[in-house]
Amino acid sequence: LQDRLGSVFDKLKRRGALSEADVTAALREVRVALLEADVALPVVKDFIEKVKVEAVGQDVLKSVTPGQMVVKIVNDQLSEMLGADHVALNLQVTPPAVIMMVGLQGSGKTTSTAKISKRLSEKERKKVLMASLDVRRPAAQEQLAVLGAQIGVRTLNIVPGEQPVAIAKRAVQTGALEGFDVVMLDTAGRLAIDEELMAEVASVRDAAKPAETLLVADAMTGQDAVNVADTFNQKIGLSGIVMTRMDGDARGGAALSMRAVTGCPIKLIGVGEKLDELEDFHPSRVASRILGMGDVVSLVEKAAESFEEEEAAKLAEKMKKGKFDLNDLASQLKQMQKMGGMSSLLNMLPGMNSAQMKKLKDAKIDDKIINRQLAIISSMTPHEREKPEVIKAKRRTRIANGSGTSVQDVNKLLKQQQEAARMMKKVQKMGKKGMMRGGLQ
Ligand code: GDP
Ligand code: MG
Repeated sequence: LQDRLGSVFDKLKRRGALSEADVTAALREVRVALLEADVALPVVKDFIEKVKVEAVGQDVLKSVTPGQMVVKIVNDQLSEMLGADHVALNLQVTPPAVIMMVGLQGSGKTTSTAKISKRLSEKERKKVLMASLDVRRPAAQEQLAVLGAQIGVRTLNIVPGEQPVAIAKRAVQTGALEGFDVVMLDTAGRLAIDEELMAEVASVRDAAKPAETLLVADAMTGQDAVNVADTFNQKIGLSGIVMTRMDGDARGGAALSMRAVTGCPIKLIGVGEKLDELEDFHPSRVASRILGMGDVVSLVEKAAESFEEEEAAKLAEKMKKGKFDLNDLASQLKQMQKMGGMSSLLNMLPGMNSAQMKKLKDAKIDDKIINRQLAIISSMTPHEREKPEVIKAKRRTRIANGSGTSVQDVNKLLKQQQEAARMMKKVQKMGKKGMMRGGLQ
């Protein structure tokens, strides 16, 4: 979605700047969305502050309302905070590259160990050795051996009674002796973080010198996952995060918090129980998911509506005075254009039927005409906009050239304005007559 949004926005040209009021109104909704997505409060606060600074004063692109513009900036900033791009596993070391998997019990370490091994061996043709260091949970080592058999990846033979550090050393030695590219170490977890666990993982780290230390965290655990990530990063040092259960309902706000708190990239996501359900982490996709794009866009729209109402009221005030210059025409065109902008955004959302699509396409054609008309008006001087009657032949040619349109287009637009102005006068006269009649009676 983000890519499509991006390219559409890029094509559009500028109009006006975002006011503080636009931004504040839009960010109120964004804040709620982030909290609902389980992003930690301090992270939300920092983020909102950052976006505000970034957004106020930015140009609003043509065909977009200020609200949509803020959402776009929010989405960009979210993606950036989640990590600019996908970060791959670092295996550029003297082989074997050791990948140590750490995390709480049930977070998905063993499953992710097998998933990563399968991917490395099948897609990247790496020779992978897996070893389970989980001597606490009954049959944990056998679980990994079963998975290894399923995916055709070698597991280190089990020696009863052997302790985690010894297993790790033996795995690395075997890896080196037998020419493995990668050695995956699946460590034991605990129900919660404790000193014993940290000490064990730290000593495995010192013995195995991993190229990657990946924290496996369950996206569904939200806020807790953030504390876990923070502690692991401080005590052990993490090189990346694997978010599991991204196939669930969680919007993935924990990803943002974890990234903000640890600075570690999220490298991979688990999207199911099956061993091929592992994907690269794409910040922009998760950003849209965290925001709940569809919902937020409509909410932000509502917040922005009040400003549009203010604009409309100003216009109505001028109309009452019987005046309608090209500035007024421009703001009316922009009002119309907002609907076009919205429809092009809706166009990108899933679940539209063909009748709706057709409607949207029609709206887009109007959009083009309006764009042309607005271009014409912006090629005029402020004086010309206020006093259209000064726009004679020479000026018309200049305006047509400046806006990349034809003199006929300019004429058409001026005619439209004249008609509107005439209407305004009529309305005003009728009003006066009414008053006079009232006075006579
Ligand atoms: P460990 O204790 O950290 O080793 O966790 P396991 O790898 O044994 O996983 C615990 C449970 O979570 C298992 O039932 C897995 O099938 C399940 N699981 C792991 N990753 C995912 C995932 O990405 N999506 C879903 N839906 N389930 C997962
Ligand atoms: Mg396990």
